[in-house]
Amino acid sequence: MSEPLFNRVAVLGLGLLGASLALATRRAGLANNIAGFARSPETRARARELGFCDEVCESAEDAAKGADLIVLAAPVGAFAVLAETIAPVLEPGAIVTDVGSVKSAVVRDVSPHIPDGVHFVPGHPIAGTEQSGPDAGFAELFDGRWCILTPIGAAEDDVAHVADRAEVEKLAQFWRGCGSDVDFMDPHHHDLVLAITSHLPHLIAYNIVGTAADLETVTQSDVIKYSAGGFRDFTRIAASDPTMWRDIFLNNREAVLEMLGRFAEDLSALQRAIRWGDGDALFTLFTRTRDIRRGIIDAGQDSAVPDFGRHAKPAEDE
Ligand code: NAP
Repeated sequence: MSEPLFNRVAVLGLGLLGASLALATRRAGLANNIAGFARSPETRARARELGFCDEVCESAEDAAKGADLIVLAAPVGAFAVLAETIAPVLEPGAIVTDVGSVKSAVVRDVSPHIPDGVHFVPGHPIAGTEQSGPDAGFAELFDGRWCILTPIGAAEDDVAHVADRAEVEKLAQFWRGCGSDVDFMDPHHHDLVLAITSHLPHLIAYNIVGTAADLETVTQSDVIKYSAGGFRDFTRIAASDPTMWRDIFLNNREAVLEMLGRFAEDLSALQRAIRWGDGDALFTLFTRTRDIRRGIIDAGQDSAVPDFGRHAKPAEDE
């Protein structure tokens, strides 16, 4: 049997992403030993019960000690302190990475704490659900999903010239082992892309559910009762972890505000089309957006089953 890619993988943060990564690492035999750390004793106790790590440590330093791959998997607002805490125990040659949903701020916060000889390769798996905590983790989370690596010093997607090219390639191999397809980007470009594909949709969902909640006379029971329309899908997104999403908006401020500005302009155009009865404008846009949905399904990034399979009949017993 060939040697695993890493000897010891330390996962710092044992929620949806951390637990899933530990499970995917184990599934593919990518490490001899998986160590984990979470902030609260409750989460550490639950992680021990679930058993997805070989060892759940009482401190981030203990988990990172002797690790050749360290993955920051807490909310991004906690990365600076975590990186500072583990810096003294990091060994030369080790790779530090993360799964944070923003990249420029993570580079800003983590890089200053990385000792000489240690390689920092930021990453973001484009995979998740609205669930959080260690119980939400599952090994298949990354299967067929993109993982974007944003190596330091890479111009756009050109990783051929980064200093730690071998480590970038090793990390890419790790993510492929976890089931992902790997892509490379410059952190700034990543943040712009994700602002429109992920961050703005969440902001819209939080806002529309908040607005509905404020309209108490309408929402008291009717919104829940008739939520089969688009509203239900917004509530799913708006149930995402508050800490994680607070940190994303605070740490991708410029890109989100840029996209929000464009969104507001386009919304005004729609408002105008409705006001002036411009059916052609509405029809043209809705046709274009339907094609985008088809493109996502063709790319294998979502299911073509109507209503996401909610009304599928249960499978017959064999
Ligand atoms: P989660 O389920 O809420 O888990 C977060 C974990 O981080 C928990 O174990 C938590 O421990 C720990 N933690 C929180 N604050 C900490 C601190 N100050 N120091 C150390 N540990 C701390 O969150 P998640 O969904 O796994 O997200 C984790 C990271 O993945 C975030 O950076 C997020 O941006 C990124 N991400 C998330 C998704 C998604 O869809 N969820 C997708 C891609 C990337 P306690 O339970 O003890 O508080």
